[in-house]
Amino acid sequence: MSRCAECGAAFVPAKHFHHLCPSCSRRKFAGVLPPSAGVVLDVETARGALRLAHPDRHPAEREEQATKITQALNAALDDARALGRA
Ligand SMILES: [Zn+2]
Repeated sequence: MSRCAECGAAFVPAKHFHHLCPSCSRRKFAGVLPPSAGVVLDVETARGALRLAHPDRHPAEREEQATKITQALNAALDDARALGRA
């Protein structure tokens, strides 16, 4: 159990570095993806990148790379959805 650095409410942090309760976190980071891979993207940019990276849009020699990037972007969007940011 932690205390939110913004409002002081008690909450259980999902990650050790979370210092804001879910409500304050949503307010502060609305529309921003969590730094899952050390990169912060806004949701619109991430969705655009997903459309561009999709394996169906690339020749066979780039399928493996496109698949890895698509999976990473989907994981980041899943994290954002779990945190209510997307
Ligand atoms: Zn709070």
